[in-house]
Amino acid sequence: MAIQANWASCAKCQGMHYAGFPDFKGVCPAGGAHEQTGSWEYRMLYDLPGSNKRQAGWASCAKCQGLHYAAFPEFKGACPAGGAHEQAGSWAYDALFETNSRGGQRDWRSCRKCQGLFYGPFKGKCPADGSEHDPAGSFNYFLIGGPDVPDKLTYHAKSITFSGGTALGGWALVTLFPDGNFEFSGHLHNSGAAAYEHTLILAVPDAAGQILTFRQSGNTFGTLQPGPRDCDWKTAGHNDLIATSWNALTAQGGEPSWRIDASVNWGAIINALVDDIAKAAGYIGTVVSIVG
Ligand SMILES: [Zn+2]
Ligand SMILES: [Zn+2]
Ligand SMILES: [Zn+2]
Repeated sequence: MAIQANWASCAKCQGMHYAGFPDFKGVCPAGGAHEQTGSWEYRMLYDLPGSNKRQAGWASCAKCQGLHYAAFPEFKGACPAGGAHEQAGSWAYDALFETNSRGGQRDWRSCRKCQGLFYGPFKGKCPADGSEHDPAGSFNYFLIGGPDVPDKLTYHAKSITFSGGTALGGWALVTLFPDGNFEFSGHLHNSGAAAYEHTLILAVPDAAGQILTFRQSGNTFGTLQPGPRDCDWKTAGHNDLIATSWNALTAQGGEPSWRIDASVNWGAIINALVDDIAKAAGYIGTVVSIVG
């Protein structure tokens, strides 16, 4: 898992900081240590392949525990513990920005004076000059965790059709729950003459580089041979990975990707699906089969 818990916002300076050390809560520009009272529990993505949906270059500061943008070679911000922020020992953090994600909080901003990430609706206290943080030029960042974590995720492929002459179509639905339970259902109808053997795969990406796949294979019949025209399925199960990936799944959200083929060559379908997702997300994820 490339997602780390124990991040918090500070009630005094509005800064995002790592609060996972029991005896060291960093250094606050408002004086003393950062204050976690009233904070949601946030999570940060780290050590991931590059993506156009995430901004790399963020670090935690060994001196103040503050999350800050460290990708400018000549400017590492202003640290409340003195001097510039210190990146030694930090993981390589990514920040989600300008996203439709759920399961977290929008309106976090980077401060151009101190390079820290702070909650934008409150201006906090900036270590660069003791006044408010300055969000000028900042993206709108999204922090995982916080309010509005959904208790269910649904991915609905509403209209599954073929581009060629294959007369087969329908829908499929994946529902995920935070305890790891899932449901996978769907319906396909053969409206043509020929019989088909099909393989359908739905793919659900999370924000941490995983792609969960759900596969269904079956047969439908047309007018040329006796047999049912419809293929209906409904399966339910449990996979702990869904539970442990919940925050990363909710942060990604969105529609499922899917591919269908009138064959049983599902290895090729998965490769095509991963290519689809790579084009959309800008990186190749790790494929994990949940069904199939
Ligand atoms: Zn603080
Ligand atoms: Zn610092
Ligand atoms: Zn600042």
